[in-house]
Amino acid sequence: MKQPSLFDDLQADKQTEEGRFQAEPVEKEYVPFLPGVKAEEAFLDVHDLHELRLQCQECQKCELRGQCTQVVFGDGNPHADLMFIGEGPGADEDRTGIPFVGRAGKLLDKILAASELQRDEVYITNVVKCRPPGNRLPSPLETKICRSYLEAQIRLIQPRLIVCLGAAALQTVIKPGAGIGATRGRWLTRQGIRMMATYHPAALLRNEKYKRPTWEDFKQIRDSYKLLKTDQQD
Ligand code: SF4
Repeated sequence: MKQPSLFDDLQADKQTEEGRFQAEPVEKEYVPFLPGVKAEEAFLDVHDLHELRLQCQECQKCELRGQCTQVVFGDGNPHADLMFIGEGPGADEDRTGIPFVGRAGKLLDKILAASELQRDEVYITNVVKCRPPGNRLPSPLETKICRSYLEAQIRLIQPRLIVCLGAAALQTVIKPGAGIGATRGRWLTRQGIRMMATYHPAALLRNEKYKRPTWEDFKQIRDSYKLLKTDQQD
C-alpha cells in the first residue's frame, strides 16, 4: 500500500511561457450546504443574488405560487455575516413582498434591537418563498422543491452564522427530523458556518413560555456576532 507522503496534499506550481511559476487552479466539486440538496439543483450557474432573485420571482415549480400574491425572496444585507431563516411568508409578507413584517416580524425586530443588531445588517429569508395558504406549514415536497433557492442564497451571501427560526428551518438547514426543544440554543458547525436553532417569533406570540429560552439563545447569537465582528477588525 502506498504510504502517504508529506507532500500528498500539495500540488506543483505550473511554469508559464514567460518562465514564471503559477499555482494551477484547482477545480473543486461543489458540496451543497443543505442536507439532501444535489449540486445540480443548486443554481451553480447563478453568480449574484440579484440574478437569483429574478429567477426565483419567475418560479412556478410548486403549487404554492398559484395561490400566493408574490414570491418573498429575502431581505437585508447581501453580504451579511448573520442570516436568519424562517419557515415561509405569511399574509403580510405575501402582501408586501418582504419577509418578517407581520406581528411575528415586528417581534423579531424588537428581539434584534434588544440584541444590539440592526435589521439591515443581517439577512432574513424563509425556507419556502411563497405563502402556504392559511399559514399552514410548507409540505415536505414544497420544501424539497424550494430549498434550492435557499442553498444558492447561502452560497452567494456566505454568512458566518445562521439562525434557524422554528422547526421547519431547523429540519431543512441543520438536521431533518430534529426537534426544536432538544436542538435549540446550541451552536453546530458545517462547512465553517456556525448554525443555531431557536423558536420562531410566532411561537412566542402563541405561548409566553418560549420567550425566556429564546432570549437566552439570542444572547448567545449577539455575543457570537460581536466576537466575529471584533475578530474581523483585528
Ligand atoms: S415556493 Fe419556492 S418552489 Fe414553490 S413556486 Fe414559490 S419559489 Fe418556486
